[in-house]
Amino acid sequence: MTEIVLAGEPVLRTPCRPVLDDELGSPEIAELVATMTTALREAPGVGLAANQIGSSMAVAVVEDRAEYQQVLAPERLAAQEREPIDLHVLVNPELEPVGDEQVEWFEGCLSLPALTAIVPRWRSVRVRTLTSTGEVEVLEATGWHARILQHEIDHLHGRMYVDRMHSRSLMTSEQYLARWRDVPIAECKALLGI
Ligand code: ZN
Repeated sequence: MTEIVLAGEPVLRTPCRPVLDDELGSPEIAELVATMTTALREAPGVGLAANQIGSSMAVAVVEDRAEYQQVLAPERLAAQEREPIDLHVLVNPELEPVGDEQVEWFEGCLSLPALTAIVPRWRSVRVRTLTSTGEVEVLEATGWHARILQHEIDHLHGRMYVDRMHSRSLMTSEQYLARWRDVPIAECKALLGI
């Protein structure tokens, strides 16, 4: 089992280096992507950046399977604009917001286990990325997919959600599931003094 690097390791705070032209399509990149995909599914999670398994390359994988969403109420999925996302790979991605609307939801991270906090994110983003073989792709994403992309691309820049969260909302996942998961975010913020 591939170990996920936990907060406290400097690699999570170090910007990843771009994948070079002659590395695109190489067996090394294919192996890295395969290892990351396995680690993501084992965790399980919806996104993983290469530095979360100790690699310094600007590579991330994203996948939000329908089975992960079955535990959530349809109204919550609709509010979060969350739909299944097929596995896709980001290589040297560049992100820009689309519009200026921000949305707030609780968010977690495999490198900060058993914790969660409210994190403001752009509602919509555009990401220019390469595939693992070097083809250019431009993704437009809204809602939960946009949030995952912002979270993973932050990792590639050495940033984590705790840098952007409302710090007063940080709590254990256990507390979140026990008493906050069905509380509207505006009410959570009021109760937490945000
Ligand atoms: Zn993370």
